[in-house]
Amino acid sequence: MDTLLRGGRVVDPGVGFDEIADVLVSSGKIAAVGPGLDAPPGAAVVDVTGMIVGPGFVDLHSHVHSIAGHRLQAMDGVTTALDLEAGLMPIARAYADAAQAGRPLNYGFSASWGMARAQVLLGAEPDAGIQSALAVLGDPAWRRSSSPSELTAWLSLLENEIAAGALGIGVLMGYAPTSEPAEFLAVAALAARAGVPTYTHVRELVEVDPETPIDGSEEIVRAAGETGAAMHHCHVNSTSGFHIDRVLGTLDRARQAGSRVTVETYPYGAGSTAIGAAFISPERLKMKGLGPSNVILLETGERMADEKRLLEVRRTSPGAPCLLENYDETKAEGRAMMRRTLAFPDAIVGSDAMPVFWPDGHIESTEWPLPPGGSTHPRTAGTFTKSLRLMVRETGAWTWLEAFRRCSYLPARVLDDCAPGARAKGHLGVGADADIVVLDPERVTDTATYADGTRPAVGVQHLYVAGISVVRQGELQTDALPGQPLRGEAR
Ligand SMILES: [Zn+2]
Repeated sequence: MDTLLRGGRVVDPGVGFDEIADVLVSSGKIAAVGPGLDAPPGAAVVDVTGMIVGPGFVDLHSHVHSIAGHRLQAMDGVTTALDLEAGLMPIARAYADAAQAGRPLNYGFSASWGMARAQVLLGAEPDAGIQSALAVLGDPAWRRSSSPSELTAWLSLLENEIAAGALGIGVLMGYAPTSEPAEFLAVAALAARAGVPTYTHVRELVEVDPETPIDGSEEIVRAAGETGAAMHHCHVNSTSGFHIDRVLGTLDRARQAGSRVTVETYPYGAGSTAIGAAFISPERLKMKGLGPSNVILLETGERMADEKRLLEVRRTSPGAPCLLENYDETKAEGRAMMRRTLAFPDAIVGSDAMPVFWPDGHIESTEWPLPPGGSTHPRTAGTFTKSLRLMVRETGAWTWLEAFRRCSYLPARVLDDCAPGARAKGHLGVGADADIVVLDPERVTDTATYADGTRPAVGVQHLYVAGISVVRQGELQTDALPGQPLRGEAR
């Protein structure tokens, strides 16, 4: 069915357009943008006067693999949610599972460095699930360096995954922080050869751990420079902490010199991961100027009382999701740091959305509103609307055009070379995918908190995925599962 969005302020970062206009959607694509468009017979005409109409947000960093999680992200303005930092393995099964269950939003995955390593180093059988992947991160045996034959074996697994449609290679280097740097260079060389990007959670910074085999940000910059690979630095906010200005300087230098380094951030002072992660050991917390009390179990809200309790939980349930308070955003210094990071030239907003965990062990629900008792980091439900609130509404640091450039346009461009389908995303050009967000510029805001991470954002008035309405008049449409796969095409 055709839809005419009438009279909104249309913001298209693809061509720098920001004017009152109509948008005509036909067969899931943008058919026309301009003033006073005629509605074709039978078209639904939606009055969006006073609203902002732009390309839906393209999230390069979402660990949400569920209808429940996608719905929270839909309310946050996201139309494409991709797991590129961790990835899933095997890729064929990840795509098949999502297609079979149905998804409200477009989806896609990178090849999982973590699971490929786990298959070779631990004999783990990958099941394309997030929970098994979280469990692997807590296994110390997985963190060691690979022998030459092991390296060859898991590189070839990654190569197969790329051939099967993976959107690049996700590298959780920070979870194996003392592994041999030559391994990372080999991954970068493979990515360059295959024409796909890497997406890295970097290893420790030299300021934090002077013994680190290589500084996390320098490792990316060096590998990008030496191999020519496109290398995406995930959540620079959470891995840099108080060293953010130095890290942004390092990345800026590489970008100025022509390296294909892209930078991503989300607007929260706390991170979230499995409590068994290498960087949550008592020693590593201390190196960062943090302690056990900065670690909070997501499902129970239990703050680790002391080192003994932290070690106990890491031993008994290493895959348990937790919050890690990197810096205090209730303090002016923390807030200023957050804004500086968002303001970094071309910084891409990416959520690092986590699954919603229910106490019975489930991470999926098709009920809406979500059943009570679910827990997740607030970034799952609020990253994009919080970024708009902080950077457009409250400070005016971004224009709306700039906001859509960072939330929709630039992330899609990271994928252009490896996934031709991405070229139809992140803008409103004629023929582009009709992935559209319509938001109320006066009301748009996050509402999720650390204590209640599943509160949906408000102010996203309409959301279309492939021209199908997922949010209508601020209400989630529970029968809408129009999400399509975005796949890599190996060259
Ligand atoms: Zn990460």
